[in-house]
Amino acid sequence: MSESLAVGVDIGGTNLRGVIANEAGEFLFREKEKINTKDKKGISRQIIKLVDDFCESAKIEVNDLKGIGIASTGPMKRKEGVLIEPTNIPFDEVPLKEPIEKKIDIPVSLINDCIAGVLGEKEYGIGSERNVENLVYVTMGTGIGGGAIVDNHLLIGEGGNAAEIGHFTVDPEERLECGCGKKGHWEAYCSGKNIPNYLRLRFSEIGDERVQNSLLHDLVSGDYSEIDAKLFFDAVRKEDELANQIAEEIGNLNAIGFSNVIDAYAPSLITVGGSVALKNEKIVLPPVQKQVKNHIRNIEPEIAITPLKEDVGLYGAVAEAFTSPNQSESRYL
Ligand SMILES: [Zn+2]
Repeated sequence: MSESLAVGVDIGGTNLRGVIANEAGEFLFREKEKINTKDKKGISRQIIKLVDDFCESAKIEVNDLKGIGIASTGPMKRKEGVLIEPTNIPFDEVPLKEPIEKKIDIPVSLINDCIAGVLGEKEYGIGSERNVENLVYVTMGTGIGGGAIVDNHLLIGEGGNAAEIGHFTVDPEERLECGCGKKGHWEAYCSGKNIPNYLRLRFSEIGDERVQNSLLHDLVSGDYSEIDAKLFFDAVRKEDELANQIAEEIGNLNAIGFSNVIDAYAPSLITVGGSVALKNEKIVLPPVQKQVKNHIRNIEPEIAITPLKEDVGLYGAVAEAFTSPNQSESRYL
């Protein structure tokens, strides 16, 4: 075998994506399929098949692989390699490490996808170009999450759930409830899933007259239950007055969220990914970049979109497979 290869897998809400990559972070082959939610072992069987297919394509033996890194939304038992009550998979616990290692005799490592994001950025993104020692990755997609490397040390936390930044409080008035059941959290206002809730809240506060004159009303023919984040950002791009006002408010909340991140982790660089930020960079990022200085005590870091785009978690999974010598300890731990 000429070069060392590993498999990285990213388990999302609906899809499972996988790559076989070399240590330089070049993806040789990639696959995407719907997650098998029929039984508890469905995902592990999918991953085993994926690994077999990749090895056949790359013309190597499975045992020649350096490892398998799996990034997934939490919560999880990282060391045991078990997902706990995963979204969209109707089981309390989904074991991955044990069933896969039983079939394939190479090390399998599970990591929170946001933590994988910062690891991917550090190894293969902007962080690698500059050797950044204090780096945070923020994802703004369906939810809001993060991963942090502090003093070149990857923060993992109890159960692998460090840097749950989406649950920082940004609204002490607690007007909206978060998916986690608590109120006032950043994610409850500014994530792709919850922006519609914030819009409906503001509509009720602002009053019918102004809302009815807005494009936001016309786009859903007055049925506000139909509004989604994409329609909202479309209205902002069309310079609808009300949409712009609410975008500014969301920008203020995002600036508070990022300021908390800066004062908690003192990063010199924050990279941002997730569908909301990637698709609406020019709306989402500028208010944050402009306003964090009004809130922070720490030095203002650079805040930039991740060059790894939607693959940042996959890069992290690959990095995890390569950087964990015995696959339970990363070089950043
Ligand atoms: Zn929450």
